Amino acid sequence: MIVAEVGIDTNRGVTSCAAATAGRDRAVTMRVFECNLCGEPFGAANDDELLRRVRGHFEAEHADVEFDEASERETIAREAYDASDN
Ligand SMILES: [Zn+2]
Repeated sequence: MIVAEVGIDTNRGVTSCAAATAGRDRAVTMRVFECNLCGEPFGAANDDELLRRVRGHFEAEHADVEFDEASERETIAREAYDASDN
């Protein structure tokens, strides 16, 4: 079986180390993800924080929907995009 090499690269060194320690609230780029149920947008410094925000959102807004952290993490990795704060 041959698995195609799709361009999913989870190890891009794009985190900015200076901004991470100096000013959490003034990051240059954000990861943006929209809730796949209601379309509410979230922004966070990285995918881990994004996942926490989406989990909190599910608990608050979609409590009847089971939150599958592993698959949601994959969805975020696949669908979240970088946005510049300008
Ligand atoms: Zn939602």
